Amino acid sequence: MGSQFGETGVDVAGPGARPALHGSKARASARLSSCRRERGPAVVVVILLGPPGVGKGTQGAWLAERAGARYVATGDLLRAACREGTELGRRAQGYMDRGELVPDGLIIELVRQVLSGLSPDTGVVFDGFPRTVPQADMLASVLGDVDRQVDRVIVLEADDEVLLRRMAGRRSCRDCGAVYNIHFNAPRKAGACDRCGGELARRRDDDPATVRRRLKVYRKDTMPLIQFYLGTSARLEQVAADRPVDKVRDALQEVTGT
Ligand code: ADP
Ligand code: AMP
Repeated sequence: MGSQFGETGVDVAGPGARPALHGSKARASARLSSCRRERGPAVVVVILLGPPGVGKGTQGAWLAERAGARYVATGDLLRAACREGTELGRRAQGYMDRGELVPDGLIIELVRQVLSGLSPDTGVVFDGFPRTVPQADMLASVLGDVDRQVDRVIVLEADDEVLLRRMAGRRSCRDCGAVYNIHFNAPRKAGACDRCGGELARRRDDDPATVRRRLKVYRKDTMPLIQFYLGTSARLEQVAADRPVDKVRDALQEVTGT
């Protein structure tokens, strides 16, 4: 498989992207790129990091499709498990409804299963994973077993005010999971999914009190991952996500070289 996000060693950050978080990242990335060229084309592992409601799902599915990579969103996988009433779903539901993180042990098992079904030359875009340092350690270890690592971490950013508005208007299809927004991205017919006709509903964890809790959890447990990845060879990019979907998309295209 070819390099799906462009050459990992070339700095493709353009006007849409904020400066890389750390100067040594580009050098680390160049080293990574040249060492991979000796072994063949790079296949990348990308993490979309950012607070709830910032647009990871909206952009992640598109980015993965464009790159021919697998899109792995742990929130989607957990919601599917809840709908199907599996053991995982039953154990995760309460945490999700309260806006807390599902325990690392359950998430690590879930992601291990997903990754074990992927060939080592598949690109992956992660959305909502990892969310804690132990999850990031586990990912590094699983990837290390097949001589891979996290290549890029893209941090999507927007103020709380923007996030609160987006989550208040978010509606998801009960059947296929497609995401809409009654203010910014309304379906053609109110309440019905454009893609499959399924019923659109508000997420159980999108009520204001739970959203506030999720934002706190993001700051406490997930933001430390920025520091974590600064200490690795992954290249970090910040992308301002407080602008229309197509503008964020353009910026992502620039930073990933797709
Ligand atoms: P996340 O996966 O980060 O929680 P989503 O992709 O589900 O976020 O987006 C949250 C809500 O905001 C959805 O209703 C989505 O349609 C909407 N949305 C996403 N990106 C934008 C954007 N750039 N501008 C306006 N609304 C957006
Ligand atoms: P999301 O769809 O990413 O907003 O996730 C919805 C909810 O699923 C979160 O608030 C958590 O309860 C749970 N969740 C999703 N991914 C993870 C993860 N990597 N670790 C722990 N909990 C998660």
